[in-house]
Amino acid sequence: MTKFGPDSAGFDAGLRWTNSFSQLGEAFFVALQPTPLPAPYWVGHSKPLAQQIGLPDDWSASPDWLQVLTGNRALVGTVPLASVYSGHQFGNWAGQLGDGRAILLGETANLEIQLKGAGLTPFSRMGDGRAVLRSSIREFLCSEAMHGLGIPTSRALCVTGSDAPVRREVMETAAVVTRVAPSFIRFGHFEHFCHHDQHDQLRTLADYVIDQFYPECAHDTRFGSNRYAAFLAEVTRRTADMVAHWQSVGFCHGVMNTDNMSILGLTIDYGPFQFLDAYDPAHICNHSDTQGRYAFGKQPHIAYWNLYCLGQALMPLVGEPEYAIAALETFKEIYPRAYALRMSAKLGLAEPVAQAGPLIEELLILMAADRVDYTIFWRRLSHWARARRMDDPSVRDLFLNRPAIDAWLLSYSELFKHVPQGLAADLMLQTNPKFVLRNHLGEQAIRAAQRKDFSGVSGLLEVLERPFDEHPQYAQYAGFPPEWAASIAISCSS
Ligand code: AMP
Ligand code: MG
Repeated sequence: MTKFGPDSAGFDAGLRWTNSFSQLGEAFFVALQPTPLPAPYWVGHSKPLAQQIGLPDDWSASPDWLQVLTGNRALVGTVPLASVYSGHQFGNWAGQLGDGRAILLGETANLEIQLKGAGLTPFSRMGDGRAVLRSSIREFLCSEAMHGLGIPTSRALCVTGSDAPVRREVMETAAVVTRVAPSFIRFGHFEHFCHHDQHDQLRTLADYVIDQFYPECAHDTRFGSNRYAAFLAEVTRRTADMVAHWQSVGFCHGVMNTDNMSILGLTIDYGPFQFLDAYDPAHICNHSDTQGRYAFGKQPHIAYWNLYCLGQALMPLVGEPEYAIAALETFKEIYPRAYALRMSAKLGLAEPVAQAGPLIEELLILMAADRVDYTIFWRRLSHWARARRMDDPSVRDLFLNRPAIDAWLLSYSELFKHVPQGLAADLMLQTNPKFVLRNHLGEQAIRAAQRKDFSGVSGLLEVLERPFDEHPQYAQYAGFPPEWAASIAISCSS
């Protein structure tokens, strides 16, 4: 049998590692090595991200990188670790969680490199430390799709697979996703140290995050020059902006627990996520979410709830409740403004105008009533808007209630008579993607990958990296979902 493992010689990739998280101290993590997987193979990889990290051109053909990114070989200069955090899951305090299957290798080019599915850690609880091929492909493609859409997100460098069996509802096989982000620190990290009254560590963590990622907060004079309140306000702003972006593209995260909320306002921890097919604000994409806590339309409210948890966790540092409340209250202004801006852009308005609000509300009611395909509607509208001819049926054909959509299209056309800058048709095509990672597209790529055909993964990646381009050779990825798409059930099990 091939000998794998950290006892084999480490691989010196010639990168400069900084590993700043590992310098925070023992309270924050446990240093450990990934657990090897037998006979790894490449499943997919991102070229642009590899370039950004500074990997050599031939990295994705290199057996050394294959071993390293499966956790089978140490990387010289890194300090692999699993971090501890806690959190609220489905609205309840869940106690200590932590990186149960993700191992942070280290930090290079201001990016943390993390292996998800790399084996047991002290925080694995009842889990096996592994991730399956299915969910790893979903996370890989969605990370890069979100980046392509311009939405703040953790990235994914690659997926490697192994035929090692992993038990879920059925037997599956193992995979490792190499995730990349400036930091994987979550709201739950702060909740952890607050809950345990470890206020020194709480301050160390907050100072580290402010110093590295929010340096402007140290000089913020709002909130009585309280840097921790300013920090809370900035996290609030980034989170509100991220969720406004989600709502505008029809992205449902599925598990907005506080341990899945990035302190940098990045979309992280892709599990049972879904891009809407038919528009439905009540849509629940997570099969395990029986109460619909994380239904599509509730996401802004949940983000606010989660920010309150963060605010609570920061109270030992902020001190004055009114500063924390003032910081959190900004959400109520920032979110609607960010949402209006994004939805207006979808309509072709470079700036929101007062008439756009009611028009959008009316439209969403019509779309929900007729279960209109969200992505196809906006893309068709982007083309329709150029000529705005009522005898062009491309948009009205999507609706059952034809008189209602005709009336809406007329009001929409009227709108531009009152907008001095007119319609920004190019903006629409750059705002309303032709391609999103629909569940059934991911599913098709996964089924092929399970037969060791990875062409679906690379084909989808190609369009999702540039989802606003036409890609005529990939028309099959831009169509309506097939009927079986509705029967795909995605749970927390990954
Ligand atoms: P999630 O809801 O997937 O973000 O996971 C919640 C918590 O469970 C995190 O602490 C994960 O690290 C942990 N976890 C999830 N799946 C596994 C697994 N297969 N093995 C170990 N820990 C896991
Ligand atoms: Mg998580």
